[in-house]
Amino acid sequence: MTKKLFWDDPYLTACKAQVTSLEGNKIKIDQTIFYAFSGGQESDDGTIGGMKVVQAVKQGDRENIIDIEYELEQEPPFRVGDEVEIKIDREKRLKLMKLHSAVHLAYFFITEKFGTMKILGSNITPEKSRVDFESAKPLTELNDVETKLNAFLAEHHPIVRTRDEKSPDLLWWQCAQWKMPCGGTHPRNTSEIGKLRLKRVGKGTEKERVEIYLN
Ligand SMILES: [Zn+2]
Repeated sequence: MTKKLFWDDPYLTACKAQVTSLEGNKIKIDQTIFYAFSGGQESDDGTIGGMKVVQAVKQGDRENIIDIEYELEQEPPFRVGDEVEIKIDREKRLKLMKLHSAVHLAYFFITEKFGTMKILGSNITPEKSRVDFESAKPLTELNDVETKLNAFLAEHHPIVRTRDEKSPDLLWWQCAQWKMPCGGTHPRNTSEIGKLRLKRVGKGTEKERVEIYLN
């Protein structure tokens, strides 16, 4: 099982690890800071042993990442047992962290105004995050949701990660009165997110999309 250092310290941008498996240009390591696409959050960009990672694939279910396999740009010169250095793009990671907590918080403020709705999907990239709702009514007038959300962010609320007692590889995300299972990476305080901008994108009958941007 790959040890996920990004859960304990999501601000790490470099670490050393040992190669545990190697098949052509596909590699596994004993521990990692390099996030693999999961729960809607995009993979990090970076290198392993100086070689560019072209794809990071998690093995496990939605919130429970068991192993991560990295595909390198070409077959690496190193072998199983070798020590390698992992580096990730810091700017991209910070944006993903902010926009991931942002999408959770936006969800709570949106449902506070419009009522509970079924989530059809969500996605987090360094440019924006989005959440799709099943909703018969259009989610217009997002301005006051945005104002309340930004006021909340400015109140310096801690964002806490806790491990599930029954399953130590399952993580919870917690902020103020809200809690949900989440295997993503998050900042430690809402003040790090800064200000957010919400944009409604109508997606047709009974489907509403809200996009979230860092300001
Ligand atoms: Zn999440």
